[in-house]
Amino acid sequence: MIIRRQTRELCIGTVRIGNNNPVAVQSMTNTDTRDVAVTLAQIERLTAAGCELVRVAVPDLEAATALRAIRDAISIPLIADIHFDSRLAVAAMENGAQAIRINPGNLGGSDKLARVVAAAKLHRVPIRVGVNSGSIEKDLLKTYGYPTPENPQSLIESALRNIRLIENLGFQEMKISIKSSDVLTTVNSYQMLSSLTDYPLHLGVTEAGGLIAGTVKSSVALGILLSQGIGDTFRISLTRDPVEEIRVAFELLRSLKIRERGPELISCPTCGRTRIDLFSLAEKVEQYVQTMKTPLKVAVMGCAVNGPGEAREADIGIAGGHGVGIIFKKGEVYKKVPEEELLEVFLAELQAMENERQKS
Ligand code: SF4
Repeated sequence: MIIRRQTRELCIGTVRIGNNNPVAVQSMTNTDTRDVAVTLAQIERLTAAGCELVRVAVPDLEAATALRAIRDAISIPLIADIHFDSRLAVAAMENGAQAIRINPGNLGGSDKLARVVAAAKLHRVPIRVGVNSGSIEKDLLKTYGYPTPENPQSLIESALRNIRLIENLGFQEMKISIKSSDVLTTVNSYQMLSSLTDYPLHLGVTEAGGLIAGTVKSSVALGILLSQGIGDTFRISLTRDPVEEIRVAFELLRSLKIRERGPELISCPTCGRTRIDLFSLAEKVEQYVQTMKTPLKVAVMGCAVNGPGEAREADIGIAGGHGVGIIFKKGEVYKKVPEEELLEVFLAELQAMENERQKS
C-alpha cells in the first residue's frame, strides 16, 4: 500500500491538493491563449478526458486579459503560466487566474516579486514555484554544478531559495516543482526536496518527448515517486495533443492503484492464431471507452480459442474468429456475432453494462 507523504493542504479554485487529497491530474493547453474559442474547445476536451487543473500560457497582456472569458466558461481551475514579466502575473490574477506558475528568480528583482505576491494575497491565489534545470541561478550553478542524478543540489537550492523569497513576503500558499528532462535527476531531486519541505509538490519531467518516449520517461520518473507517496499534482508532458497526457496520467494512476477513472482496456499482442484486424478493433474500442466513467475491465482478444480464457478477469470482452466473433463475460461465451457486426454489437453491450453499473 502506498503511504502518501504528508503535505500542507492547498486550494486551487475548488480543487484541494496536498495532504490526503487525491493526487490531481493537470495538463497545459497548447493553443494561443488569446484565441479564446480555440482554447476553450481544448479545455473542454481536456475536462471530458478527466483533467482536473489546466494551465495556459500567458505571454502578453492580451493573453492575460483573455483569462477572464476563459475562466468564466470552464469548470476546472485555471492556472496562468508566467515567465519574466511580473505585470503579466498581476494582470492574470486580476483576470481570474486561480493559481499562477512563476519562477520567482526570473521576475526581475525583489520589488517585482513583492508586487506579484501582494496581488496573490489580494486575490487569494496560490503560487506554483516552478524551478527547472534550465532556470537555475548562476551563482548556484557555480557552487553546486549543473544538476545530475548524483548531485541535484543546485536544483534543490534554487527551489529552497525561491520558497524563502516568497515566505519572506509573508506568503505560504505555494506548491513546488523542480523539473529536469532527465529521469533519474527528477527522481532524486524530488525525493530530496520532499524530505526538506512539506509544501505540496507538482511532479513532471520537462521536455519529456513524444508519445512513446514521453510516456515512458514520465511514467518511470513519476511512477517511482508516486509509488513512494511523493507528489500531490502532476502533469505528463508530451509533444502531442494534451488530451493524450490525461489518458497516460490516469493509466499511470490506475497501474499504481492510486486512482481509477473509466474502464481498463486489456488486449492481447496478437499472434499467428489471430484471424481478425485486431489493431483497428482495439483502437476503436479504446476510443469508445474514453467516453465511459465506470471502472470496468474490458478485453479485446485476437482469437476465440484462447481469448476468453486468457482474459477471464475481464468483465466483458470480445474475441475474433473465422468470420464469427464472440462476446464473453468473465471468461464465459455470452454471444456469437458475425464478424461484420461484432464491433457494433459489442459497443452496445458495453454501453448497456455501463448503464447498469451506473444505476446500481
Ligand atoms: S488471445 Fe489468441 S490471438 Fe491473442 S495472443 Fe492469445 S492465442 Fe494469440
